[in-house]
Formats: sequence, structure tokens, C-alpha cells
Amino acid sequence: MPNRSASPTPVAILSALLQEQQGLMELLHRPQKVAHAGRDFWLGELHGRPVVLALSKIGKVAAATTATALIERFGVRRMVFTGVAGGLGAGVNVGDVVVASDFVQHDLDASPLFPRYEVPLYGRSRFEGDAALTALLFKAASAALGDGGIGGAGAAFAGARAHLGLIASGDRFVSGASESRGLHAALTGAGHEVLAVEMEGAAVAQVCHDYGVPFAAVRTISDRADDSAHVDFPRFVEEVASRYAHAIVEKLLLSLEP
Ligand code: SAH
Repeated sequence: MPNRSASPTPVAILSALLQEQQGLMELLHRPQKVAHAGRDFWLGELHGRPVVLALSKIGKVAAATTATALIERFGVRRMVFTGVAGGLGAGVNVGDVVVASDFVQHDLDASPLFPRYEVPLYGRSRFEGDAALTALLFKAASAALGDGGIGGAGAAFAGARAHLGLIASGDRFVSGASESRGLHAALTGAGHEVLAVEMEGAAVAQVCHDYGVPFAAVRTISDRADDSAHVDFPRFVEEVASRYAHAIVEKLLLSLEP
């Protein structure tokens, strides 16, 4: 049994919304709140491992600020994002979980100066999750779905699946069937086989790339980014998202090396 408390640098666990953080807050030992950059950061221990819990806030800029603060101010050297997203890919249904292999910014378009979706001056449009951390997160998510560890949600989401693939981020809540079809068609047409859409992940992935900090992200599908997304979303976040985050992060932390 490794001595986890020997780990000098905390693992950051980011959530977009308060409801998503709640399940983790309940687990946090010796919580200590630090206010910084207009945000509350919660230091403490989960399963004997030092962690910092933070809310990214919503959208790419807010998430980038939070990720930068976690690295610069709190010295984190691993970052994990848990949140919800709209399903875009075929067969990516409400109650499923998508672990990000990589991210693209669907609203980034500096064409014709740069190819559509390319992040100018980076020479790329996609930022990958850390391979090892992402593999552990996918294992944790699959196990949480498989063993009924996501209490209470099991009945409603029998047959829920874990997917591994591309997530698109942008500063829009996508809530229309024609918009989500258009988004899916434009991305796949450019070679980006997208599974889900949300508003923060690509920004955090880019910050972690800049700093060389391993990053992994998991999103529970709360809606299908269609005409009923705004109806499905709040209920799902209230009733389900917090349990998913709790179950998956718990399994991930137990599987991490110190
Ligand atoms: N008024 C809402 C705002 C939520 S924004 C509230 O505060 O309750 C939606 C959040 O969920 C973002 O953090 C985003 O990352 C994610 N998300 C879920 N479904 C989405 C969708 N269909 N399109 C974009 N983001 C989505």
C-alpha cells in the first residue's frame, strides 16, 4: 500500500457547476477554502490524497483562468475535469459517459488565415488528454457504470455506456436539433469525429498543454444538444451528475500512483 500522503503536489478536480462538485465536497477531508481570482478553491484530502477542488465556471475563458490558477497558485501537476455534456455522436445517449481522448474548439475559426478549427500559432486544432491518466479515467468510468456504483441512477440509465473519443468545446449551450446536426456535420466533415459538446474542456486542455500538466476529462451526457436540451439539462444535473462525479473520481483516485 503506497503512502499516498507523501505526494507533495495535489491533484486538481475541476467541475463546471456547483451541483457537479457537491458529491465530491461531501467526501473531502480537512477542507480548507482559499479565495483567489474571484473563485473558491477547496484544499483537502480525498482517500488520503491531497486534492484541490475547483469550479471552472462556465465557458472557455473562465475555465482557462481556473486551470491557470490551479497550476500557478496551487502547484497542481495533474488535472481531472468532471462535468456534463450534450451527446452529438450516434449512440451517445443521456446517462452515458464520454472520456475525452482529445478536444477541439468548435467555435474557433480564423480562416482563411488558418484552417478552420486550428488554434492559431499552435499548428494544431486538437489537444489530447494525457494517455496514462485518460486510460485510468476510462477504466474508472467503465467500472462505475458497470458495478452499479452510480447509486440511484442505474435504474433510469440501464445500459449506459462509457465512450472514449473527441469532445468539442465552445461558448454556446447547444440546444437545437438543427444546430447540433450542423455542428456534427461541420466537424465530421473536417475529420473531427465528435462524440459530445460542452463549454470548457478544450480550454483546460490547451492550458495544460502549455504547462505540460497531465489532463484527463470525463463528461456525463445530460442531453442530446437538441430542442429538449434545456429541459433535460437542469433535472439531470440536479439528480444525476453529482453522483456520477463522486463515483468516478473515487475510483480514479484509488487507482492513481502517488
Ligand atoms: N444556466 C445553466 C447553464 C449551464 S451551461 C446553469 O447554470 O444551470 C451548460 C453546462 O453544461 C456547461 O458547463 C457545459 O460544459 C455543459 N453542457 C451540457 N450540455 C451542453 C450542451 N448541449 N451544449 C453545451 N454545453 C453543455
